[in-house]
Amino acid sequence: MSFNMYMPTPILFGLDKLDELADTPRLPAGDRAMIVTTNGGSMMRCGYYQRVQSLLGSRQVASILCDQISPNPESDEVEAAAAVARAKGVQFVVGLGGGSALDAAKAIALLAANEGAAMWDYMSAGSGKGLTPEHPALPMVAIPTTAGTGSEADPWFVVTKSGSREKIGWGCDATFPALSIVDPKLMLSVPPGITAITGMDAFFHAAESYLTINRQPASDLLALETVSLIAGQLPILVDEPENLELRTVLAWASTSAGICEALAGCTGLHSLAHAVGALHPEAPHGAALIALSRAWFLIMAEAEPERMGDLAMAMDQAAEDPAGCCDPADFHPLFTSMLEDCGLGALGLADLGVQEDEIEELAENALWTMPALLDATPVELDKEDLMAILAASMHPDEMERL
Ligand code: NAD
Repeated sequence: MSFNMYMPTPILFGLDKLDELADTPRLPAGDRAMIVTTNGGSMMRCGYYQRVQSLLGSRQVASILCDQISPNPESDEVEAAAAVARAKGVQFVVGLGGGSALDAAKAIALLAANEGAAMWDYMSAGSGKGLTPEHPALPMVAIPTTAGTGSEADPWFVVTKSGSREKIGWGCDATFPALSIVDPKLMLSVPPGITAITGMDAFFHAAESYLTINRQPASDLLALETVSLIAGQLPILVDEPENLELRTVLAWASTSAGICEALAGCTGLHSLAHAVGALHPEAPHGAALIALSRAWFLIMAEAEPERMGDLAMAMDQAAEDPAGCCDPADFHPLFTSMLEDCGLGALGLADLGVQEDEIEELAENALWTMPALLDATPVELDKEDLMAILAASMHPDEMERL
């Protein structure tokens, strides 16, 4: 057994934890912050932005707002915001919202500290230059309002190169949040459809961290627990979106899966989903993963039968009346029925706007932009294999065994 472990982010987790922004000694030093949200106005409408601004104000921290970030952030957006942050002497960046806001805040914090740099100077795949940043990122505070990406617990951020078809994830020790506040009350306002899709995103982070060749003992423990929690609770939460206890369980599942991402990382399922997001930026990230997942897990059941059996057992144990499943073949029916219970059973790539004639480009894109996660996948997959997964995922409810 051999592994490295680094998980430096202090996480304040629980109901009303946002109030601790007023007095936590963990807040980064400085009296000028930038608050980053996405551009749909939900943080303003829900009053979360005003609360964060006022809590920072109570500590004599003046804040400026960047609310120009798209869901699935773009490089132009984070570069422009970083220029503003530099010009205004911002000392730390607060990401408030779903993964898009948190990821954008990390990217802005990095670029603000590195004058003259462009986002693609650092990307190490696709057309990125693979440079090492000269300076560490500014400190970043993560306040997630969706339960899915786990960005509050990992160093990763995902950005699309403006005007191109490249969506790439990046991160380093300096892009772990300096502080994360996970308050499940902020997630009560997430509509059921987004709750289901983001909850499944967390499921994939956990399951993929259990399958990657980079797995390690701590992420294994968290992954099985997370898979069990999501299998048991997400379908109920989708029906009961105001259930605060279930919101809390899912918030923890997301953070726990984020720790798995930090400790072990994901697999090529994410390479394919990012390719879909690159060609179809309007497709939610979690939805792309869901569409691809059934074909992906069929291949994993052959590549890693024992571990897929463990995942089946973790899902089965969450049932009211467990059937004693522990065989890799048990995973598929349990997984399909969970998707159906969450209202996601029929979701395929065709529903996200993907055309049959894009399949080859998507496979090439995944290999070009996110090769590291394909390399971490426990079975070697070439372009033809990826094309077969993509083709089967157009209408996965009609899918035959690959
Ligand atoms: P998102 O951040 O794009 O948000 C989706 C929508 O939900 C937005 O319109 C947003 O305004 C709205 N919303 C968010 N919180 C809300 C709330 N509390 N109430 C009402 N509406 C709310 O979606 P996401 O799935 O959280 O994040 C997706 C992004 O995160 C993608 O860019 C993806 O690539 C990235 N990602 C990052 C990681 C990571 O480890 N850093 C992991 C997975 C995905």
